[in-house]
Amino acid sequence: MHCHTTISDGYFTPKEIKEIYKDKGYYIVAYSDHELIRDHSDLSDDSFLALTASEFSVDDVKPSFDIPGGENSENAWCARKVIHLGVYAKDPHNTFHPATDNTLFDMWWRAQGRDIGNINCDGYHREYTAESINEMVKRLNENGFLVALNHPSWSLSDMNDYLNVKGLWSLEILNYETERLSGSEYCPYIYDHMVRMGMHNLYCNMGDDNHNKGGSTEHSFGGSTFIGAPTLKYDKVIEALENGNFYCASGKNPPTINALYVEDNIIKIDCSPATDIFVTGMGRNYRNYMTQGKEITHAEFKLEPRDVMFRITVRDKYGNNAHTHFYNVSDFLEK
Ligand SMILES: [Zn+2]
Ligand SMILES: [Zn+2]
Repeated sequence: MHCHTTISDGYFTPKEIKEIYKDKGYYIVAYSDHELIRDHSDLSDDSFLALTASEFSVDDVKPSFDIPGGENSENAWCARKVIHLGVYAKDPHNTFHPATDNTLFDMWWRAQGRDIGNINCDGYHREYTAESINEMVKRLNENGFLVALNHPSWSLSDMNDYLNVKGLWSLEILNYETERLSGSEYCPYIYDHMVRMGMHNLYCNMGDDNHNKGGSTEHSFGGSTFIGAPTLKYDKVIEALENGNFYCASGKNPPTINALYVEDNIIKIDCSPATDIFVTGMGRNYRNYMTQGKEITHAEFKLEPRDVMFRITVRDKYGNNAHTHFYNVSDFLEK
């Protein structure tokens, strides 16, 4: 769901990305080059789907804490908050850039002498304020894009930032490249907090954010999203994403959730071999299937009204995690 190519600051061409990801068993790649929405339909075929996507950003102008050298020094960049939004076009051919001012490309890509052609945009000038960030999301939504909040830890986001963004479709709870670089980009707590504070329709996804520096695939294949679409058609995949028919999982050989269903007020999970299977409610009502180190492939939990909402985590013996989004208990509870 998050990938950079030579169109922005990635190492591989879009076609090379298709080949290396297909080779690892992937069917779908969202091409989310910085600020540029490109239609990659020419790469799609019976066994591969290219999602038209991008990553839109806005930077704060001031550092968020005292930094040696002060706010005008080179150091200041690493202390500035940012927001990066994962944007996914519902129509593969939609390359209109909402919430975008053409001067942004002068600073980014044209300053590097790149010919990016004419960009069709609405001229909106972004600022790092809650109001402007919400306007970005609103314009993206109105123009047919799903919007995810990417890597909140790298962005230096705190609750005042992430709780104030309205209209989000999903939170990137693992950004694999940043996690591999920092060790602090696995953010289930932020997801729980956002849902607890009222964002009940928010999903969670994972992405690689691979730039493949020097041709390395070290940062690829570690943050995957498993989409339950009936066919590999663009509209069916988008429909599955919009309806939450997906889960996400970490690691180069991630655990899988093969079935999740409720029968007689019992949550039932079938999965790949796991050492922990957790239910996380909205409050402090955690449950873990006690396996005593043994690997299991099935677990059952009572559906409990005090959870209000619940999500499932399947963890394997290597510490990799498969995550569902939150579900409403009341949608499953038999009266
Ligand atoms: Zn980013
Ligand atoms: Zn990125």
